Amino acid sequence: MQAEPLFGQNQDELTSTVGGDTRRARQLWRALYRDRIATLDPLATRLRALLTAETEVGLPTIAQTAVSVDGTERYLIRLADGETIETVWMPEGEADGFDGRDLRNRGRLADQGYQRATICISSQVGCAVNCQFCLTAKLGVVMKAIGLIVQGIGIPASRITVSTSGIEPAIRRFAAETIRPNLALSLNAPNDAIREQVMPINRKWKIAELLEAVKTIPLGKRGWINVEYVLLGGINDQPEHALQVLELLRDIQAKVNLIVWNPGPEIAYRQPEPADVTRFHRILVDNGMPTFTRRPRGRDIYAACGQLKRTLEEPELVALS
Ligand code: SF4
Repeated sequence: MQAEPLFGQNQDELTSTVGGDTRRARQLWRALYRDRIATLDPLATRLRALLTAETEVGLPTIAQTAVSVDGTERYLIRLADGETIETVWMPEGEADGFDGRDLRNRGRLADQGYQRATICISSQVGCAVNCQFCLTAKLGVVMKAIGLIVQGIGIPASRITVSTSGIEPAIRRFAAETIRPNLALSLNAPNDAIREQVMPINRKWKIAELLEAVKTIPLGKRGWINVEYVLLGGINDQPEHALQVLELLRDIQAKVNLIVWNPGPEIAYRQPEPADVTRFHRILVDNGMPTFTRRPRGRDIYAACGQLKRTLEEPELVALS
């Protein structure tokens, strides 16, 4: 019989695991997610007695690690059931004379000249959205939600960004939450025709519907919506596209993050020309849109969305040309 992992269970699930005892379930929750126990040994005897012999903590393990010359690190993490997900850690800021390979000590991040770091975490195994520029899409559909617990590790909601491919009802639900992280909408196209090409999910929810849903999110005076836009050479990176993006976002408090597409094996797009990236950026900025162009990170280790898992599980794909 396969051991039943505790890690990943929410409060309700833990309550049922311990036979409905809410006090013990709370203890178990704290032990798992605050004290981060690795085995059941530290649990009180009475609590342990409520668990079956097959129960285990089931902490995920790091199956593979890859470190880029730019400091980006990516991990392939194996879950208790054997499925894998990926996580990418990116130090940010400019450190003088930085060589990413030296950045091994997270505690000394500030000493190294970095102001902060960003970590991307998967919320599910595989993905059915099938964005055409993404390697995760090519992994096929496994679709298992992962219980993400970010609270309790000292990160306020305002420092967390949830990225969505554009599921209209989910955006409306998000808008109604009392504690909300930031939202990033993966727009990636200036109109429905192109978005349908690169993100088939657009056949279900059109850009206008998504933006109407986004407008229901209470932002206050200083809040904003992050709009992610992956620039694909010759597809969505031309001046007329930038003007259409401006038009779409005209009455939304938005910041645009331009992302230069990271090439991946078996994906038939090309990187945008640097001049096209600069021009796109300029058009947005000159028209008053706060815009940031993210430099590609971890290209040497395939750190873009979905690339880790695919290339580490299928090593023959790693040959970078
Ligand atoms: S970009 Fe995100 S939503 Fe689209 S296929 Fe990849 S993982 Fe799924």
